[in-house]
Amino acid sequence: ENLLLANQVAIITGASSGIGKAIAIELAKNGASVVINYNSSRERALDTLHEVKAEGGKGIIVKADVSKEKDILRMFDKTLETFGRLDIMVANTGIQVDSPFLQMSTDSWQKVIDTNLTGQFICAREAAKIFVKQVPDPEKTEKSIGKIICMSSVHDMIPWAGHVNYAASKGGILMFMKSIAQELAPLKIRVNAISPGAIQTPINKSVWSDPAKMDTLLELIPYRRIGKPEDVAKAAAWIVSDNADYITGETLYIDGGMMLYPEFADNG
Ligand code: NAD
Repeated sequence: ENLLLANQVAIITGASSGIGKAIAIELAKNGASVVINYNSSRERALDTLHEVKAEGGKGIIVKADVSKEKDILRMFDKTLETFGRLDIMVANTGIQVDSPFLQMSTDSWQKVIDTNLTGQFICAREAAKIFVKQVPDPEKTEKSIGKIICMSSVHDMIPWAGHVNYAASKGGILMFMKSIAQELAPLKIRVNAISPGAIQTPINKSVWSDPAKMDTLLELIPYRRIGKPEDVAKAAAWIVSDNADYITGETLYIDGGMMLYPEFADNG
C-alpha cells in the first residue's frame, strides 16, 4: 500500500476529544497505527478507536495523565509492547484553567504548566530516546527517523488576559520546540509546532455555543469561520509525512488569518 504513513506508529495525547481525536483518525487514515491517549473518559477514547477502525486503521487506547511522569513512561511501554516501535509523537494535550491574574492561584498556574508544558517536555524526550534507539546511525540517514508535533496556540504570540497560565505555557512551548528542533536536527528528528486559532472543540464551547460571543470571535478571524478539528488534523498528517521532510523548527499557524491583526484591516 502507498499510504503516506504506512507502517508508522504514532502516539497522540489527549485523543479522546477535539483536535487530538481528529489527528488520531487522520493519521490512521494515512496508514499509521495510533496510540490514543486519554486521561478521564475511557468511553470517548473508545469512540476515537471505533472511528479509527471504521477507517480501516489500527489502534489502542492508553490512559495516562500527562502531568505525571510515571503515567507517561507507562504509555510509552505500552506502545512498544503493542506495536514494537514509534515514529510520531503528537503532544496535543492542553488545558485551560482560567482566572483573572489577581485571583489566580498557584495551583491553577502549576496545573496548566505541568499539563501543557512539562507534559510535552517528558513526552518529547521519551519519544526522541526511542527514535534514536531504533536506528543504528541516525546522523547518516537521509530522511527523518522520527517526528514530533508540539500542539501550541496562537497564544504563543498573542497575549491573553485572563489566561496568563495558558499563554505562558504556549509561549514556553514555542522556545522549547525550537530549541529541541535545533538539538535534534543532526539526529534526523523533526520537531514542529502547530498553533491553532479558534477551533470548534469542547475547550471553547462557552464561546461557540453563544451567538453573541461567536459574532465577536468571527471579527478576529479574517476568514470568517471557526476552524474544524479536521483543518488541524490534515496539516498534522502532512507535517509528519516525508512530504515535509525538510521542515523542522517551524510553527504552522492554522487560524483563518487570526495572526494578521484583523483589527487593522481597512473595512471602510
Ligand atoms: P479538548 O478539551 O477537546 O481536548 C483536550 C484533550 O486533552 C482531551 O482529550 C482531554 O481529555 C485531554 N487531557 C486533558 N488533561 C489531560 C491530562 N492531564 N493527560 C492527558 N490528557 C489530558 O481541547 P482541544 O481544543 O482539542 O485542544 C487540544 C490542543 O489544542 C490543546 O493543546 C489546546 O491548547 C490546543 N488549542 C486548541 C484551540 C481551540 O480553539 N480548540 C486553539 C489553540 C490551541
